[in-house]
Amino acid sequence: MNFEFGSEDEEFRAEARAWLADHLDGPYAESAGRGGPGSEHERADARRAWERELGAGGWIGLGWDRTHGAYGNRAASLTQQVVWAEEYARARAPGRMGHIGENLLAPTLLAYGDAAQRARFLPAIARGEELWCQGYSEPEAGSDLAGVRTVAVRDGDTYRISGQKIWTSLAAEADWCFVLARTDPGERRHRGLSFLLVPMDQPGRIEVRPIRQMTGTAEFNEVFFDGAVARDVVGGEGAGWRVAMGLLARERGVSTLVQQIGFAAELAEVVDAAVRCGALRDPVLHGQLVAQWAELKVMRWNALRTLGAAGDAGAPSVAKLLWGGWHQRLGELAMRVRGAAAALGPADWTADAPYELTAAQRLFLFTRADTVYGGSDEIQRNIIAERVLGLPRVERR
Ligand SMILES: Cc1cc2nc3c(=O)[nH]c(=O)nc-3n(C[C@H](O)[C@H](O)[C@H](O)COP(=O)(O)OP(=O)(O)OC[C@H]3O[C@@H](n4cnc5c(N)ncnc54)[C@H](O)[C@@H]3O)c2cc1C
Repeated sequence: MNFEFGSEDEEFRAEARAWLADHLDGPYAESAGRGGPGSEHERADARRAWERELGAGGWIGLGWDRTHGAYGNRAASLTQQVVWAEEYARARAPGRMGHIGENLLAPTLLAYGDAAQRARFLPAIARGEELWCQGYSEPEAGSDLAGVRTVAVRDGDTYRISGQKIWTSLAAEADWCFVLARTDPGERRHRGLSFLLVPMDQPGRIEVRPIRQMTGTAEFNEVFFDGAVARDVVGGEGAGWRVAMGLLARERGVSTLVQQIGFAAELAEVVDAAVRCGALRDPVLHGQLVAQWAELKVMRWNALRTLGAAGDAGAPSVAKLLWGGWHQRLGELAMRVRGAAAALGPADWTADAPYELTAAQRLFLFTRADTVYGGSDEIQRNIIAERVLGLPRVERR
């Protein structure tokens, strides 16, 4: 694979940079650098409007496979997608609210959806108009996802969904949720499941209860379904497990290359802080920062190496293991380089109200979740052990 930037890519870069400079002006200027992990609450309305701005510019869905048609977005090679992500990070553009629809659902619809589903849902994602959330986890079904108990009962042309999801990121903001539910109560485990597309605006039938996290924000939620109506099943009734796993492979895999650009910016910030605080003179911290830099390079090469390896069952799990641990260590380093001062609130803080966390504190607290969501480290190791190394399977209930 050629990963050099050619002249077309540099033209694309100039266009992306100019567009971002132009559009991150005015009402969006204050949203720059806001709304990342752990601070999803920041400027939510402005960031929602920003999604539509991105959509109008054609910047959502750059990597969508065009085999099945065009959906209002630009076509861009993988190199150009990386260029866009680089410029996005460089411009400190707002944290994305549409990433679940764009990066998880859209590729899943392209792979498993029918023409009507693609025509209905992809243009609205590309325009930045409809936001999505992911309804997989339940109180008794997280790592053991095949244990989902939410049911979907056929009712004429529709399904009626009842049950509870948990840890549903952005459910309070989302217009739609893709839900893994049991359509065949006679089947067990990964058989008899379906992947349904559920509109969230169903008062009385869907209730969203925010869960407050240790960052003080409520990025994820409990979602209760009580006879909620859905019309669309992706991949056909009973194919839910295959579709759900296809989606998870994306969450753990290719998108990491783009994500690493944000990581590089965060690492640069921690290095800057280490220089400012004098922590760089500490040989242990110095060594840890250098190791962090080297590991980021290794992650990049690993991501590039596995890009074309569609049949490599372990690649998404290896990528998830690498980035989850790396990012968590970065959060720890962000605190360590600042020494004891890292734990302090602002000087003017009084105990009658919570204080806003600093960026380093948020990074540290939020990254505790990196080795859990999208499949925990232990689960990734199980996948690698069973599917790549051929070790005996873990016993399942
Ligand atoms: C920030 C964040 C956002 C999230 N967003 C979403 C979302 O939008 N939608 C959604 O559906 N879910 C979401 N999740 C949920 C996430 O997918 C689950 O937390 C994850 O799958 C783990 O499930 P669990 O929390 O039920 O933990 P459990 O499955 O109960 O696991 C508890 C512990 O036991 C370990 N463990 C479990 N089984 C095994 C095993 N077989 N072998 C070895 N160790 C094992 C796990 O590694 C973990 O350490 C989110 C989670 C977080 C933290």
